[in-house]
Amino acid sequence: MRVHDLARELNLSSKELMLRLAGMGIPVSNHAASLTLDQVRQVRDKLGAPAIPTTRFARAVDILPPRPSAAPPPIPESPLPSPPPEVPPVATETSAPAEVGPGSATAGAPARTIFTAHPQIVVKEFAAQMGVKPNILIAELMRMNVFATINDKIDIKVARRLAEKRGFTIEIEHKPAEPPKSPPPKAKKIEAPEQRPDELLPRPPVVTFMGHVDHGKTSLLDRIRQTRVAEGEAGGITQHIGAYMVTVNDKEITFIDTPGHAAFTAMRARGANLTDIAVIVISAEEGIKEQTREAIQHARAAGVAIMVAINKIDLPNADVRRVMNDLQKEGLAPEEYGGQTIVCPVSAKTGEGVDHLLEMILLQAEIMELKAAPRRRAEGFVVEANLEPGRGPVATVLVKNGTLQVGDAMVCGDHWGRVKALINDRGVKVRTAGPSHAVQCLGLNAVPEAGARFEVVGSDREAREISEQRLEARRLGQLQQTRRGVTLEDLLHAPEGSNVRELNIVLKTDVQGTLEAIRQALSEIRSEKVTLRIPLFGVGNITLNDVLLAKASGAIIFGFHVSADEGVAKAAKREGVEIRFYTIIYELVEDARRAMAGLLEPIVRETVIGQLEVKQVFELSRKGTVAGCIVRSGRITSRSRVRVRRRGEVLFQGTVASLRRFQNDATEVREGQECGVRVEGFSAFQPGDMIEAYEVQRIAQQL
Ligand code: GDP
Repeated sequence: MRVHDLARELNLSSKELMLRLAGMGIPVSNHAASLTLDQVRQVRDKLGAPAIPTTRFARAVDILPPRPSAAPPPIPESPLPSPPPEVPPVATETSAPAEVGPGSATAGAPARTIFTAHPQIVVKEFAAQMGVKPNILIAELMRMNVFATINDKIDIKVARRLAEKRGFTIEIEHKPAEPPKSPPPKAKKIEAPEQRPDELLPRPPVVTFMGHVDHGKTSLLDRIRQTRVAEGEAGGITQHIGAYMVTVNDKEITFIDTPGHAAFTAMRARGANLTDIAVIVISAEEGIKEQTREAIQHARAAGVAIMVAINKIDLPNADVRRVMNDLQKEGLAPEEYGGQTIVCPVSAKTGEGVDHLLEMILLQAEIMELKAAPRRRAEGFVVEANLEPGRGPVATVLVKNGTLQVGDAMVCGDHWGRVKALINDRGVKVRTAGPSHAVQCLGLNAVPEAGARFEVVGSDREAREISEQRLEARRLGQLQQTRRGVTLEDLLHAPEGSNVRELNIVLKTDVQGTLEAIRQALSEIRSEKVTLRIPLFGVGNITLNDVLLAKASGAIIFGFHVSADEGVAKAAKREGVEIRFYTIIYELVEDARRAMAGLLEPIVRETVIGQLEVKQVFELSRKGTVAGCIVRSGRITSRSRVRVRRRGEVLFQGTVASLRRFQNDATEVREGQECGVRVEGFSAFQPGDMIEAYEVQRIAQQL
């Protein structure tokens, strides 16, 4: 505990306390000096506890001796009745009436203590511990702008305010088994042995239809399903499970129900990359519309393969050529035009071209060489999930790798379960589901979120433990995001051979003219080290959608003469997405160029960490001169760099050759302590010289 903390507790100024400490034979150099537990106890015994103990929180880690002797801090000089001698683990019974009005704490209510093991407390329990009706507490919380139900948890800070009004103190429970400041439980990671290339076998592609509303996504999916079922596939009526498999020429394709574009990207941003191929559906009659462009952007940002189905070719006004021309303008040049994009004219109504589309999907999949290891424990993502009466939580899961089997223990998001049954898209119970297969899975203990990741683990126990740890970590707000945006720092520090060799930019500008000019200028940058991609560009302010897309594609957002919508900065911070604003095209392009070329020299930052005064000089025959010093402020470490100053003037600059304290090598010596310092290459010390210890950090320059 530090001097100033104890001073505050004792209602003294730091200076006063320091004087008293000196009188007690505990000299300290300054108000930030640390006191040992014993010293704190000694001082408390002598100087007494706070005058109004009820208004203070005792932090067990600072004040309390470890349990079982855990008790409220001593209040020796309190004129009030003493607290109850026994403190039960949950709440302290009070010797005062349960309801004590505001201000009564100072008017003489006894110190009453509530223990809580966590930095949050459930309203119901809290009310019970204080002997207050929960609805009274809820009403009070509302007045504090905290809207909580009886089962909600409230923050300890809020609880403290309510407790203090009633003359309670809250103490964080001290668990003897753990060290006082043990880090909170980290969500356990599941370690799987590394995958060997020879385990990998081809797997079916996972496909999503995207595009403008009413251009025929649903109809196309229905047509594909009906045709395949009508052709005599096993099973009967297709079930709605959010994903469907069809077989074409003995090869399978999995279709995932069209999610909204934002949902698609949100899942992707969380790391749930369900889809391999996005088929952009465009009406041959209406052509490319706003949501078509949006779909293209989202698919690009997700980095999935893009194909195009030009639908409704049965209509008299269908104009396939026009759509192809427009696709070219959108940067999706059709193969027919010498481009890379597979474009298939189809009619969901007549079925024309649908088989060709399926064959082309298989061809695209072949090019992508999609592979997985079917003999491994399964892992994948939740496509959709809900609670069904009589069946419990039902989740449609897409297996990305391995094979899922009935009886497997799995962790799914924060939940867990043992697979009771697997049901495919035709309502047939199956025992296993291999890579790219989507099945309904029964047996989870709760409904997971769409996009949640699942992994099979060794046993039910392990699954439950991991789930519990994750829930705990989430409750404490410490679960790491599965993925965060890429910053320039990542780019510059990417190890050789790593895949962060791409600078992805989301570009937003004020007008079309500047957009074109900047894109043109960026496209002219040549770099051997980094490729530049602009997965999303457009005119207008930076929106939440841009942040989401930037995260999904690991992009940095460059805004030119634009601002950010409300809430964008916060979201960007949360998602780890970097936003940079420019008003001069040259600067924007120059930043991108320097980043790509990796030319940014790291900034060298120097931080002075301590000042030492040379008190005595010792000449050692063999090892040179040692300066006997006292650390006047800060600290010095054996790895510090140092400057020797005499009357302010720098005599020498170098590194510490050795740092010793009481004959022993020391790694660090702190304020108020004495030490012996040898400086590499310097021996002309004189008493009164000052040694300045500093550290040098190399920081990669931000754009
Ligand atoms: P979605 O919003 O993209 O899922 O579009 P839908 O599949 O719901 O289709 C919208 C409308 O277009 C419906 O009335 C369909 O019957 C019609 N439609 C879809 N595909 C075709 C097609 O190939 N030809 C014709 N003539 N109409 C179609």
